[in-house]
Amino acid sequence: MLPFRYTPGDLGAQEVEIGITHCGICHSDIHLISNDWGISQYPFIPGHEIVGTINAVGAEVLSLQVGQRVGLGWQSNSCGTCEWCTRGMENLCPAAESTCVHRHGGYANRVRANHRFVIPIPEALNSEQTAPLLCGGITVYNPLRTHGVNPSSRVGIVGIGGLGHIAIQFARVFGAEVTAFSTSAAKEEEVRALGAQHFVNTRESKALKEVAGTFDFILSTVNADQDWGVFIQALRPTGTLCFVGVPPAPVSLNAFPLISGLRSVTGNPTGSPYRLKEMLDVAARHGVKAQIESFPMAKANDAIEKVKKNKVRYRAVLAN
Ligand SMILES: [Zn+2]
Ligand SMILES: [Zn+2]
Repeated sequence: MLPFRYTPGDLGAQEVEIGITHCGICHSDIHLISNDWGISQYPFIPGHEIVGTINAVGAEVLSLQVGQRVGLGWQSNSCGTCEWCTRGMENLCPAAESTCVHRHGGYANRVRANHRFVIPIPEALNSEQTAPLLCGGITVYNPLRTHGVNPSSRVGIVGIGGLGHIAIQFARVFGAEVTAFSTSAAKEEEVRALGAQHFVNTRESKALKEVAGTFDFILSTVNADQDWGVFIQALRPTGTLCFVGVPPAPVSLNAFPLISGLRSVTGNPTGSPYRLKEMLDVAARHGVKAQIESFPMAKANDAIEKVKKNKVRYRAVLAN
């Protein structure tokens, strides 16, 4: 990445301009930098885990004020009128606009978005530890809420990185019994400190077999291929396996355990602005925060290299 200057033009009547203080590095940024998904347009500014202070509000924005501390995540706009927008599920809007796809994102001094997607940050939250909640956090919070995780739930979190370490905390806040699945035995102590009661080393096939029929909900945050059949076997009847990480190969499953145990496989894309507000409120009240490593914005290239090498525990955050 190289420095790039652009003129954003007049501020739209429904828009807000944020002076950025912090921006987390999400794996999606890295995919977009190298155009892995074929949707990047250059020059391109990544970044969609943004915290900052409002510089300016458009003429029709009544709900936010200049000087207010706010966050902005993956989504920057939606049509506002379709079935999904009017049902409060703006994250499913077919016209959804992403903060750094076909527009300039948050590895920057300033960013703009529709005011409906700009979320006030509760006083109790620290900006740099909150930035990763705006994408990584909501990506795991939303499915835990959507699938009704509660104190009777047994939850498995697969992959303990930027997303997984936040997922463990939210699952515990909802009262669930939490098992962390990781290939790294060295993480056991840390995941227990985050609140997981159990640890399964996914390199040990015996350990995986022992948890067969155990879970109501398994959330997979990994970007690597796995034997997904083993995770389906780990579900109790009516249990769900939910993907928020994207394995490179198509997910291949035997239908029989889905049929016999009424088990499901699903996914989750970010969350609505309402859920973002709710998540930040829950994080403030229950002390959920990302464990971060901070880098100056000017060192974004170094930070990305470290993320690519999987050396950041657990989220890199750029600071202006
Ligand atoms: Zn993201
Ligand atoms: Zn819509």
